[in-house]
Amino acid sequence: MSFDLPIAPPAQVGGLAAGRATSGGGDELPVFYPATGARISTLIEDDAAAVDQAVTAARAAFDRGTWPGLGVLQRVEVLERCRQIILDNAEELARLECAATGLVLRELRERHFKRAAYNFRFFAEYISQSAGQRYDQTPGYMTTVSRVSVGVAALIAPWNAPVALATMKIAAALSFGNTAVLKPSEQTPLALARLVALLQEVLPEGVLNLVNGRGAVTGAALVDHPGIDLVSFTGGTQTGRTIMSAAGRNLVPCTLELGGKSANIIFASADQERALDGALLGIFSNNGQQCLAGSRILVERSIFDDFVGRFVERAGRIRVGDPLAETTEIGPLASAAHRDRVLSFVDIAQADGGALLMGGTRRDDLGEGYFVSPTAVTVPSNSARVAQDEIFGPFATFLPFDSADEAAAIANDTQFGLVSYIWSDHLPTVMDMSERMRSGVVWVNTPMMRELRAPFGGFKSSGVGREGGASCEAFYTEERTLTIPTRPPPLRKLGVE
Ligand code: NAD
Repeated sequence: MSFDLPIAPPAQVGGLAAGRATSGGGDELPVFYPATGARISTLIEDDAAAVDQAVTAARAAFDRGTWPGLGVLQRVEVLERCRQIILDNAEELARLECAATGLVLRELRERHFKRAAYNFRFFAEYISQSAGQRYDQTPGYMTTVSRVSVGVAALIAPWNAPVALATMKIAAALSFGNTAVLKPSEQTPLALARLVALLQEVLPEGVLNLVNGRGAVTGAALVDHPGIDLVSFTGGTQTGRTIMSAAGRNLVPCTLELGGKSANIIFASADQERALDGALLGIFSNNGQQCLAGSRILVERSIFDDFVGRFVERAGRIRVGDPLAETTEIGPLASAAHRDRVLSFVDIAQADGGALLMGGTRRDDLGEGYFVSPTAVTVPSNSARVAQDEIFGPFATFLPFDSADEAAAIANDTQFGLVSYIWSDHLPTVMDMSERMRSGVVWVNTPMMRELRAPFGGFKSSGVGREGGASCEAFYTEERTLTIPTRPPPLRKLGVE
């Protein structure tokens, strides 16, 4: 079996500095279509010299260009044009995204690209409304605090939702008057390369630039570059540590949106059907590759067997296959290596005393693509590796609990702290549990529901800093305090007898 390509991608992709191709200079890397395993494009990696071209372009646009000093009305106009470009080109962009990620085209159209366009509107509206502060503690003096742009932002994105995640960073960085250099994941450069080329047509020269290549080569050159003023990173926890060290060396602020192993806690007092729908969405959306996945499903013991049975029955009917088909619910995983890693956790679970409930196999009947069947295991304890490690695939781990205390203890017994999900219609249980969760986000009786005005980010190894309206304003701006006398009082005179 073989599947059609979503689109004919460009033969090569590389970096773009101020509208011109960067010099590349690094290795040539293959880009694959995950649904067939076919090589579909070649990435020309940017070496340190090419990264320097992009940072220099962003630096010039910030230090000498019009963008940081543009009035809000004018900046909003440009942001609206960015939004329109995404809407006008959504089909092409979604197909390019599908070609490199294997994400289901329908989901890309309905969720990722609507959100990508909205990211620009959201920040355009935000900057239209935000104002500075004025203080007058000392009579005769006025102090104002204004927020000014920081400089050149390095924006580093992962492969699991490239455009949806990167546009949040681009829209935020640019809205607050910064210029930027974006580095997509080397696995998924296609849609972002096209998007940056399109956006460069409406943005002043050098405001948004692109470098492409591996993290250790291009990414490291970017975060180490002395011309960078702040770093916004989304990706794995280990990479986050490396990036924060680099930001520390250069003494620039960074935000890290990292991994998760989120607990999805289902009480007997929950609406069982809704909790089941939510548990399935929580672990299988986006092909199971999402930081906020509800990957540890904790179920109250009195309903455990029944709930797990119904979960397995429904998950067994999930349609895995061609990302272009309207009926497909899960496409291929992002790469062959990632598929093998995800499946390796079946043996790991069994070695820790776990039992395979379903799946755990490649879907070779679907051809050479990186398909796996939806997988679920149950483990005897939260110390099992499948309950501790982020697997980042369609792989659910079930654990029973007997009391709210035990559920809270298990939920928090992890290095991560991104999201907690609580399912119960008993208000005291909900309130008590939500206050006990050591995570940046708590979702009650709902799967993923991102409110862009609210902070999003993690406790513990799930991150440092937050994304969201006011959180982005705080990160992408510097505060400047200005004090001026309004009715100048006489000054104390030195040197006068
Ligand atoms: P990754 O850490 O391997 O790579 C992320 C990005 O960092 C890529 O562009 C990569 O090239 C780059 N990179 C790698 N090493 C680098 C270095 N030394 N210097 C600079 N850049 C470097 O992550 P991934 O595998 O692409 O993405 C999956 C991970 O992302 C998962 O752990 C997932 O949980 C996390 N994630 C988190 C969020 C969130 O909002 N918290 C959202 C999506 C994904």
